[in-house]
Order: sequence, then structure tokens, then C-alpha cells
Amino acid sequence: MNKEKGLFTELLVITVIPLMILAITVTVLCNERFTKTIYGQVEKELKDIAVSVLDTYDMAYPGNYTMVEDEKTIRVYKGKNEITGDNTFIDSLKEDTGIDITIYYYNTRILTTLYNDGKRLVGTYCSSVVENDVLEKKKSNFYKSVYLGEEEYFAYYQPVFNADNECVGIVFTGKPVAKIKKEINMNLIPLVTVIIIFILIIVILCLRYTNRILKYIKSLKNFMGQIANGNLSTELNAEILKRNDEIGTMGRSAVEMQNSLRVYVEQDVLTKINNRRYGEKMLSKILRESQKNGVKFTVAIGDIDYFKKVNDTYGHECGDMVLKKVAFVLRKNMQSNGFVARWGGEEFLLVFYDCDLEKSVEILKNISEEINNMNMFYDGKEVSITMTFGVTQGDSSKKEHIIIKEADDRLYVGKKTGRNRIIDRNV
Ligand code: GH3
Ligand code: MG
Ligand code: MG
Repeated sequence: MNKEKGLFTELLVITVIPLMILAITVTVLCNERFTKTIYGQVEKELKDIAVSVLDTYDMAYPGNYTMVEDEKTIRVYKGKNEITGDNTFIDSLKEDTGIDITIYYYNTRILTTLYNDGKRLVGTYCSSVVENDVLEKKKSNFYKSVYLGEEEYFAYYQPVFNADNECVGIVFTGKPVAKIKKEINMNLIPLVTVIIIFILIIVILCLRYTNRILKYIKSLKNFMGQIANGNLSTELNAEILKRNDEIGTMGRSAVEMQNSLRVYVEQDVLTKINNRRYGEKMLSKILRESQKNGVKFTVAIGDIDYFKKVNDTYGHECGDMVLKKVAFVLRKNMQSNGFVARWGGEEFLLVFYDCDLEKSVEILKNISEEINNMNMFYDGKEVSITMTFGVTQGDSSKKEHIIIKEADDRLYVGKKTGRNRIIDRNV
């Protein structure tokens, strides 16, 4: 037999795993999109500051950038005013915006907010890459990773022009990458938390739903297993039958199948009462229960008197009609007392639950009377019948065949001593 694969695992694979993949994809996409947006914002901010630095200098000190150099110092002028040495403007701008600023004359830093070992980085040079990209090509440029000392920066370089359009320097504006990444993470954490909570809720709901469905499927599986093992009286979980979905439909079909099987296997075709197979099964069950809980029961075998004569006189069809009518009366009377089964031909097994011999004889007397008084007509002729019963107390110490034999022996005594009677003791 194939090893049974768990539906639970399969359902998890098709629900939870895609959700996890979705969560990871959404998080990665959000991160990328968010990072891109932030990078765009940083570039714009750096550009705006660089342009505003240039505009401010142009407005405050009209004229070109020029340099006067002697052996010791470099002095840079804007128009008539020397701008070297005065970092006040860029320092206050840095304080307001958190952005580092450097003004290069050609490739040399003449004003800067950057320090190294406590000293302003003036007099140092820009990298050859920047010199090539900005100074020579006369184009502004944004870099996502520039190392200034140990620190990694987002950097914007804006070329500086004199009136004759000569490129005479660069304005650098920059922000530490670590600072921006921290900002991105601070913004992403709530978003990722919301996604994780959302996915967790869906996973919990999926698990709960899966478990509920599986509970019903397991009940259905056990029910079918019991039927397959011949236990036709097993009951299906009532909740399944109430469901208005495929599981409910499956449950109802399974119960219908159980009923059909019960009819085929446990019902007598002619009389529609229980057959001998059912009788034997139930007798063993009652005996087992009695062994466990000591509940008393009695067993009777009833046989129609001179039934052959009925067949011979009125025909087999009439005999069948009599059997049906007798079966009807027996079932009606046994409904609240136990059960009846057609034992064979015109013989019936009657089992009384939770009943002593005296009480069962009482009931059998009523049954006999009702049978004797039945008004049966066939072909316009009245057919009267009687029955003889042998009855014995069921005993948890006795085996089934012994109990049956005792009832049968008493029935035989009844037949021998004149029929139409109930024998409840050995004689
Ligand atoms: P007794 O009082 O000793 O029981 O006599 P009896 O004639 O009832 O007993 P016997 O065993 O001689 O005959 C039983 C008859 O029941 C024989 C058989 O043809 C008939 N019989 C058995 N099953 C059926 C059935 O399904 N339909 C009909 N019509 N007759 C049946
Ligand atoms: Mg008979
Ligand atoms: Mg017989």
C-alpha cells in the first residue's frame, strides 16, 4: 500500500510558501524603490545646495574667481573680495542642512567644512576621477560612493565658471552614506513590520482554515475506513452533514452509500427486516456488552406453525405475503425492546435488551396474540397462522451458539408439545 501523504503539508506548500515568497518579494521591491527615491532626493538636495552656494557667492561678490599665489599661500578672490579663509557661510550652511561643502579653485580645496585630524582639509586636491569628470568635461556629477578619509559620502560636484565660460573650480556638496542608510532603515522598519504582521495573520488564518477542513476530511476518512472494515453502523460527524459545501456533499453521499450497503448486506430482501448476518453480528455485540456491563438480555427463536401447509394450500406467493406480515408485526413489537431478524425460512430471531425472561415472555405473549388475530386474506380466503417460540435468558458466560441452541431446543419442545406456545424452560 502507498504511504499516505499528508494533505496538511501539501496545503501548507501551496498556501504558506507562496505567501512567504510574496512577502520577501514585496519587501525587496519596496526596499529598492524606496532606496531609489531617497537617492533621487539626496541628489536633488545636494544639487540645490551646490547651486545656492554658487548663487550666493555671485550675488555677494560679483566678478570672476581669480587666484593670487605666493610662496606660502594661495589667495582666491571673487571679484575684488578675497574669499579664502572665510568659511563662515559654508559652516552655517552645514549647520542648517547637515551637508558638507567644499569649494575648489581648479582642483584645490580652498574652503571646506571637512576636517581631518582636527584640521580643515584646505589645500588638498580632488581625485583624478572628479578632475576628469567635472573639471575637464565641465559637467556636474553625482556619485553614490565617494570616500573622504574613512567616511563614505554621497557626493555632488558642480563645475564653477567665470564670465568667459572658463571652468575655474568645483563646488562639492556631500552627505555621509551611513546617515542616509540609517534614515532608509528607519523608514523601512515600520513597512516591513506591517508586511510581516499582515503575512503572519494570513498564515494563521490559512493554518486555522486548513486544520478545520482537515478535521472534517479525517472524520470522513475514518468513517469510510470503518465502512470498508464492515462496520456499517458507524456514525459520521453530524457537523459534516450540516455543511453546505463539497465536504458536506461528500459526507451525505458517504452516509447514503452506508445505508445502501446496509440494505444490501444486512436486510432481508423479502421481508425488509434484518437478515441473519445482522442478527449474528448484533447478538455477538450484545453479548460482548453484557460481558462488560452485566446488562441482561434474552433470546427467542420463533417459527411459524405448519407453514409448509400454507404454501401447499394457497401457494408460495401467499406464503411470501404471510412472511411479510409476520415480519411487520415482529418488527413493530421489537422496536422498543430489542431487534428481530429473519433467521431462515419461516424462523425469526428475537433479542430483548435489558430484559429478563419473565418480561420477554410477556412481550412474546402479546406478539403471539397479535399474530393469531391477524386478519389475512388470500384469494378471498382467510389465512390464519400461529407461531411457536423458544426463549432463553442470555448469559455473559455462555457462548452465542449455546444460547441459540437453548432457544432452539425449547422451540423444538414447543413444536413437540402442540405448537402455538412459548417455552421458557427446559423440560
Ligand atoms: P412446523 O410447524 O413444524 O414448523 O412445520 P412447517 O411446515 O412450518 O415447517 P417445515 O420446515 O416443514 O416447512 C417450512 C417451509 O417454509 C418449507 C419452505 O418451502 C417454506 N419456506 C421457506 N422459506 C420460504 C419463503 O421465503 N417463502 C415461502 N413462501 N415459503 C418458504
Ligand atoms: Mg414452521
Ligand atoms: Mg422451520
